[in-house]
Amino acid sequence: MDWQKEDLKYIWHPCSQMKDYETLPPIVIERGEGINLYDINGKCYKDVISSWWCNLLGHCNPRINEALKKQVDTLEHVIFANFSHKPVITLCEELMKVLPKGLCKFNFADNGSSAIEMSLKMSFQYHYQTGNPQKKRFMALTDAYHGETLGALAVGGVDLYSELYKPLLLDVIRIDGPDCFRCPYGKCRDNCNCECFEKAEEAFQKHADETAAIIVEPLLQGSAGMKVYPPLYLKKLRELCDEYNVHLIADEIATGYGRTGKMFAFDHAGVSPDIMCLSKGLTGGYMPMAVAITTQKIYDAFYDDYLKGKAFMHSHTYAGNPLACSCAVEVLRILKDENIIEKANKRAVYFNRIIKEKFLPLKNVGEVRSIGLINAIELVKNKETKEPLDSTKRTGYQIYKKALEKGVILRPLGDVIYFNPPLIIEEEDMDFVTDIALECVNSVLI
Ligand SMILES: *Cc1c(COP(=O)(O)O)cnc(C)c1O
Repeated sequence: MDWQKEDLKYIWHPCSQMKDYETLPPIVIERGEGINLYDINGKCYKDVISSWWCNLLGHCNPRINEALKKQVDTLEHVIFANFSHKPVITLCEELMKVLPKGLCKFNFADNGSSAIEMSLKMSFQYHYQTGNPQKKRFMALTDAYHGETLGALAVGGVDLYSELYKPLLLDVIRIDGPDCFRCPYGKCRDNCNCECFEKAEEAFQKHADETAAIIVEPLLQGSAGMKVYPPLYLKKLRELCDEYNVHLIADEIATGYGRTGKMFAFDHAGVSPDIMCLSKGLTGGYMPMAVAITTQKIYDAFYDDYLKGKAFMHSHTYAGNPLACSCAVEVLRILKDENIIEKANKRAVYFNRIIKEKFLPLKNVGEVRSIGLINAIELVKNKETKEPLDSTKRTGYQIYKKALEKGVILRPLGDVIYFNPPLIIEEEDMDFVTDIALECVNSVLI
């Protein structure tokens, strides 16, 4: 059977111009092991993007497999209104041990975008029920990404995804966020005072009265090209939110679970958000699950006699799915038992060093930026002026195709090449994937 042909007969792949598949047909994967994926012909691909950033501990991790198998023979799913089960309670207990202070109430969903929708609704309803019904708008940063459903898309600021749908979207207050590579203040992210924060202050002065919440991807704007900004920004934002009674929503869907070198990106800032969204690494990349976690204070504003009509009438059929929870519990145990984040941080030093050595000297590399094991290489036309490459040339895409031939999955964001590997990646694979990436960059950008 020609699996590729059959695939294209039926399947409309996500986030793809399907015509591109004429020259790059879908790669049909048969099995996975560690950071390796193997296609139906036995060819190996290094999954250094963690299959859209969710695979945390390698494919077919023996411990997660075991936990999942055990759960599937016990209970696969149960309605989550009025019913509960051990895996979800255990998961909350385990998460409580690692979450930023104050987060203690868990509302489950089945994908990241849904958790974002839930947070926005929750924040609005909190203000509505505590005497501030005029707080019905949201603030978000430029270049933000929060998912694809209409609410999540509205707070997002990457035009590639949202521009076309503007007529359908909420009117969000957009704040010029940190842009450390092309800093308009001429500062450097390692020692600045977040001068760009004045944009947030201006927005709060003008709009805080009508604002329920501000949502951010803490420290790392992933989809915008792995843009990294300093923790001080979050600290300042916490103070501003407190001053103006605006919720701080942390979208830790991509940054949680050790991706930035600490369990959560907010841990770098030493402050807590009012609502935190988790997904992706939550189940180790095994099962679709997400959660919006909030404070006692927000929870209490919904707690009253039924006829007062204050309940949060929001549900997802698969909320709290036991199979997903059993994976999520095992992920937390592995992180702890095997000291995963600490070990990953050690190897991250090596990874960052070889990437800088290999790529910084190239004439088209504007910046190498890193946080945790995530490393991004921004390609530019001119190193001095930081002028971008001509995007119509699709340079990143050409590099992606070359690297696939050589067995490495890079999938650049525009002309930003990045690595966001499972936390278990070893030095030998770091050497291999960076060599291939370098070869591909050099062959495309001659
Ligand atoms: C992936 C992602 C989302 C959306 O999650 P989905 O499960 O794809 O809906 C939201 N925010 C961030 C930061 C993400 O990386």
